[in-house]
Amino acid sequence: MNTLKIAIQKSGRLSEKSLELLKDCGIKISTSNRKLRTESPNFPIEVLFLRDDDIPQYVEQGVADIGILGENEVWEKDKNVTQIRQLGFANCKMCLAIPKDEEYTDLSFFKNKKIATSYPKILSNFFQKKGINVKIEEIGGSVEIAPSIGLANAIFDIVSTGSTLLTNGLKQVETVVESQAVLVANQNLDEQKKAILNRLLFRIEAVKQSFENKYILLNAPNEKLEEIIALLPGMKSPTVLPLAQEGWSSIHTVIKEDTFWDIIEQLKAFGAEGILVLEIEKMIL
Ligand code: ATP
Ligand code: MG
Repeated sequence: MNTLKIAIQKSGRLSEKSLELLKDCGIKISTSNRKLRTESPNFPIEVLFLRDDDIPQYVEQGVADIGILGENEVWEKDKNVTQIRQLGFANCKMCLAIPKDEEYTDLSFFKNKKIATSYPKILSNFFQKKGINVKIEEIGGSVEIAPSIGLANAIFDIVSTGSTLLTNGLKQVETVVESQAVLVANQNLDEQKKAILNRLLFRIEAVKQSFENKYILLNAPNEKLEEIIALLPGMKSPTVLPLAQEGWSSIHTVIKEDTFWDIIEQLKAFGAEGILVLEIEKMIL
């Protein structure tokens, strides 16, 4: 039996969520001992624990068949891999920042300036497209201190809260791109591996759908049923059951997390009562 080799980050910001995603997909992974590779006992998958920087190269070469990593690393490494799906975690922005006392108007500020970064490729592509000449100083880490030690006039780095910038006397002036975790795949997977990947994707879809939706139950006065049902599209259409109390019905359906509060307010306005909202464990459309 063929197995699909998936590369995930060994330790860092992506590790926990990557393992959690596999677990939510019903795939058991033992992480008890510090092994760098482990096979799942209940799904034809083998997990390789690697540094995220190495994942694009390993997936390109077929050392791993698929991998989970930040889009930022995919763009920067620019290897021949297929981006399969965004995963909705490890969200971050890649920003330009300058010393906080400097005046900033627009991107022309950076003309002929020296910018320190660990992402030279993403940065040079960006300025090339804008037609602005900049000098890029590639450094491996601790990019934020570059301006204060005289290494550069500005920096380009991942920013999540901005507090690291502040403590280093910098201010964010431009967001260049936003990144999140993605699933990438080797471009020459054989049919068996593709079939395993499709099984995995089916499960990921169900997990993601369940996070994006809520199951909702409520009691509605019959005279307002039509209006209330119109608010609740559900998967096909809502289930409506009569309550023991005459003139009332119970409605069951699924709604999107992001429309949730708006809909609840409107339901209440139509006289809905006893509204229960439940997490969905898995959702297959
Ligand atoms: P490795 O040792 O595997 O090379 P790393 O130090 O390069 O790890 P982490 O800091 O663990 O990487 O970040 C991994 C990924 O998490 C980043 O490439 C990025 O996609 C994402 N990320 C999300 N938020 C942040 C953040 N605030 N700072 C850094 N990375 C973040
Ligand atoms: Mg790294």
